[in-house]
Amino acid sequence: MTATTELLAFEQRPHPAPLPAEQRAQVLAAPGFGQHFTDHMARVTWTADAGWHDARLEPYGPLQLDPSASVLHYGQEVFEGLKAYRWADGSVWSFRPEANAERYARSAARVALPQLPPELFLESLRALVAADAAWVPDGGEDSLYLRPFTVATEAFLGVRAARRAEHLVIACPVGSYFSGGVRPVSIWLCRDYVRAAAGGTGAAKTGGNYAAGLLAQAEAAEHGCDQVVFLDAAERRFVEELGGMNLFFVHADGTLVTPSLSGTILEGITRASVLELAGDLGLTPVERPVDVAEWVDGVRSGAITEVFACGTAAVITPVGVLVDGEERHETPGAPAGSDAVALRIRSALLDVQHGRVEDRRGWMRRLA
Ligand SMILES: *Cc1c(COP(=O)(O)O)cnc(C)c1O
Repeated sequence: MTATTELLAFEQRPHPAPLPAEQRAQVLAAPGFGQHFTDHMARVTWTADAGWHDARLEPYGPLQLDPSASVLHYGQEVFEGLKAYRWADGSVWSFRPEANAERYARSAARVALPQLPPELFLESLRALVAADAAWVPDGGEDSLYLRPFTVATEAFLGVRAARRAEHLVIACPVGSYFSGGVRPVSIWLCRDYVRAAAGGTGAAKTGGNYAAGLLAQAEAAEHGCDQVVFLDAAERRFVEELGGMNLFFVHADGTLVTPSLSGTILEGITRASVLELAGDLGLTPVERPVDVAEWVDGVRSGAITEVFACGTAAVITPVGVLVDGEERHETPGAPAGSDAVALRIRSALLDVQHGRVEDRRGWMRRLA
């Protein structure tokens, strides 16, 4: 097995014809989300016999997969999502990437994929960002979204953990999730399907959880809602999370409540950071089960003053309304005001990420 230190040198196989600067500038001017990818991708191969090997940086492009590759049949894959931010001095940074590296390894373990050593995870980010540094936008809320993922590529239809896998990192420039300012989203309460059950894969960042949620997301869209919220599988009563974001409730008594991690909720790094920042805003963070009835009654009585969702992609998103069948439960002071907790936490996070304030918690890591 190759020693990790040897692996940290990514072999450079540069793109023979990277996108011309002028066209890149056009993409960066209106990046959208997840549509335009940079010139390169980082890649490391794993086999049961040789372990992780052949770390390289190569042109972004289609993968050659055997049609019997296990990921295509049994969904054996995991992924991560984080961003690279350009600071005013030109340097490029990421937010708590060690936490992503550790979660990536935990997710992989849950679906019987090989665990990439965290230092190799970080080095694969650095290799890609160094090569495609010109793709990291500057200004405003723009950033380079990094998507590491591992797929099982062994050509074999038998049902067991694959003996061959690939770790890849691709990247795309992204703008603010909200064009035209932060806008409260509407949430559809999903009563037909669950996303994850105890003992299942809900706490792993794996594609299957997303597949399980897509029909509910389509149902939400049919009802004019932006997002869907899932309830627990056992009692269909406790609020879990959105398809890809964690939820918070601001209470009039000064507590900031989020559903406790039960094994079925994805442990968001934004969620963990919001819990840490709560004290700075004079709020008391609380992790406990949240009954959906508490949400409905709370926004009606005023005991809950704000609801918001959080995740890397959209940072913090105020929730304006919960739609349950024919019923609509509006959050009273849908936080448009600048003193809303959701917006204050949002600015606090963005300021650290974009290097506009001192990083007192040591959250930022330089990539380039
Ligand atoms: C990635 C993800 C989140 C948010 O996690 P962050 O680390 O904050 O980006 C929340 N829920 C699910 C299901 C996710 O996949």
